[in-house]
Amino acid sequence: VKHAGKNGYELFVKSMNVVAKRRLELESNLRKAIELNELSLNYQPQIDMQTNRIIGVEALLRWHSEELGFVSPVEFIPVAEETGLITPIGEWVMREACAQAVRWQVQGLPEIRMAVNLSVRQFAKQSLEKQVNQVLLDTGLPVHCLELEITENMMMDDVEGSVETLHRLKALGVQLAIDDFGTGYSSLSYLKRFPIDRLKVDRSFITHVTTDPGDASVTQAIIAVAHNLGLSVTAEGVEEESQLAFLREHSCEEVQGYLFSRPLKADDLAELLGSNNGY
Ligand code: C2E
Ligand code: CA
Ligand code: CA
Ligand code: CA
Repeated sequence: VKHAGKNGYELFVKSMNVVAKRRLELESNLRKAIELNELSLNYQPQIDMQTNRIIGVEALLRWHSEELGFVSPVEFIPVAEETGLITPIGEWVMREACAQAVRWQVQGLPEIRMAVNLSVRQFAKQSLEKQVNQVLLDTGLPVHCLELEITENMMMDDVEGSVETLHRLKALGVQLAIDDFGTGYSSLSYLKRFPIDRLKVDRSFITHVTTDPGDASVTQAIIAVAHNLGLSVTAEGVEEESQLAFLREHSCEEVQGYLFSRPLKADDLAELLGSNNGY
């Protein structure tokens, strides 16, 4: 900016204004999103490598704003985090995901896990475990069907506190997964202290797992560490048969990605689950 001269500076200010304006638009529209029924969930299947069947789904938030159109969670979740709007939104997600899992069970579909993403603020809240418990009671979802996805970075600010929170959640009987594993700042020495069930290998390692020896090594190492600690592994972002073959060869338990299915609307997921529940 310093060397860009007057025009460069004006351009910089302009682009700052564009960013600030967009953020304000997102915030004010997000405030009304729940009431206006603009939020919905999609569900992406997680496939058991042994049986080739759907063993769970991950609930992924969608926002279709009347004013802004479709907005990606990659853009609006951070805004929801910063503004605190994630608290009501996160609670809505948990409730809706659990209620939907019960609806599928009532329809007679096979019982599957429902994975819900937690945000930084949700995880830091003292009342999280109470909220989770209340949602389970209200919806009637069996506790072992719920899985919570947490990222490494969420736990690093306060490792002791996080270990306690995880223990309290675990005591309820929910399943716990570390999301985007390998991309965060946690060290392996913490891993054994976390009462978790599963590691999810981030898509960034899977994308080139068959062509980049580095990514292959990291993926293999994550699987090995997980298995040594008695944890199960889900690989994210599996798009190609060759990636699947690699993961099978290295005894990865579960896969999730476009190769099997994109995130689906509840009815489409039900159809898939009911059709033969196999790939
Ligand atoms: P994530 O938790 O890592 O979710 C996986 C993302 O990868 C999803 O993007 C999913 O649609 C995408 N994906 C799955 N399989 C493939 C594949 O084979 N190829 C490619 N290219 N992408 C694939 P999405 O739905 O856009 O969500 C992005 C992120 O937004 C999520 O990343 C998560 O961090 C956040 N997010 C989504 N829903 C929620 C929510 O309810 N609460 C919170 N706190 N965060 C959420
Ligand atoms: Ca996730
Ligand atoms: Ca992930
Ligand atoms: Ca991710």
